Amino acid sequence: MQELRRQLAGLEQRGLRRRRQVIEAADGTEVVIGGRRLLAFCSNDYLGLSRHAALIEAAQEAARHYGVGAGASALISGHWAIHEQLERRLAAFAGFPRALHFSTGYMANLALLHTLPRRGDAVFADELNHASLIDGAALTRAEVVEYPHCDVDALAAALASSKAKQKFVVTDAVFSMDGDIAPLPQLLSLCEAHDAWLVVDDAHGFGVLGEGGRGSLSHFGLRSPRIIYMGTLGKAVGVAGAFVTAQEEVIEWLVQRARTYIYTTAAPPMVAAAVLKSVDVIEQGEDLRAHLRKLVQRLREGLRDLPWRLLPSQTAIQPLVVGESKDALALSGLLRDAGIWVPAIRPPTVPMGTARLRISLSAAHSEAQVDRLVEVLRRCAESLS
Ligand SMILES: *Cc1c(COP(=O)(O)O)cnc(C)c1O
Repeated sequence: MQELRRQLAGLEQRGLRRRRQVIEAADGTEVVIGGRRLLAFCSNDYLGLSRHAALIEAAQEAARHYGVGAGASALISGHWAIHEQLERRLAAFAGFPRALHFSTGYMANLALLHTLPRRGDAVFADELNHASLIDGAALTRAEVVEYPHCDVDALAAALASSKAKQKFVVTDAVFSMDGDIAPLPQLLSLCEAHDAWLVVDDAHGFGVLGEGGRGSLSHFGLRSPRIIYMGTLGKAVGVAGAFVTAQEEVIEWLVQRARTYIYTTAAPPMVAAAVLKSVDVIEQGEDLRAHLRKLVQRLREGLRDLPWRLLPSQTAIQPLVVGESKDALALSGLLRDAGIWVPAIRPPTVPMGTARLRISLSAAHSEAQVDRLVEVLRRCAESLS
């Protein structure tokens, strides 16, 4: 206990102690915390679908039909018709032969990296990959090689010098704390040249990028049997869960071996039903995506020449790098005083010295709300200078 107390005090001192905010109510872009209404720029609900009437209705109807829980793991008796329907829909939508539905993206990534690479293989991972891919890599029996962020030349050299039996290049498609998009066409070319698999985590691209919201592969017009694609269902899709889609053999092997699929209760059927409806809305959601793109441009123009570095992102994730954790917390506090919630993201989530405000936009935001954020940030810059 004493040791834990000492360590917690250390976190506090370094400005690294995290605290959860209890949300009492929300209506899409505004939340109520401690009785106070705040304009929020911190959700991954990029299209505002978590409150979409048709999704809520689909979940309610499924709850009446199937009950609220799946009742068992998928391989025992928890794989319902609605799960089967969802997997077919997701595979067809993403353009692959088969898909597997997971309860969370974290579990999907653990499954991929624990199950597919074997002893004697090698995993090549971007240094800024999401924590779930890093944790997955920690479970693998293969050798793990990190390459510098989006550095195609460094990756090419690493692949060329590798004697591994099977090679897996693993990357976020849209990096969760920087908002930039991985050079997927170049990565796929390298994988073709070196006979490697390409594992793409599209948590922040699925629903938002590409034709009909099909994600980052569609954004670049990429298709290949060597791609293993993971999309999450709790961000732009607005519900919960994830899926992996790939060639038949890859998916069948996951069904046989993925411990985070086999040894856990299947996702509630009502969740699958809401996701299924969400895919329809996403496919028809070009207006939502166009509005979101417009907000991104508006924010970026508004935040030009501020003292903080706005990373060059074209996605809904717009990070404003402040530097030290304490300064990022202070800026987040100033915004909070002005009725705006943008969380400070600190190490270890991001590298030391790059603490930042992670502004995330949603199609549910209005232009006026983005303007308000810009105005308050400009005032903060003046008061701090
Ligand atoms: C959020 C996220 C995950 C995890 O997905 P969950 O469904 O929230 O567990 C995986 N990869 C990336 C890049 C993410 O941003």
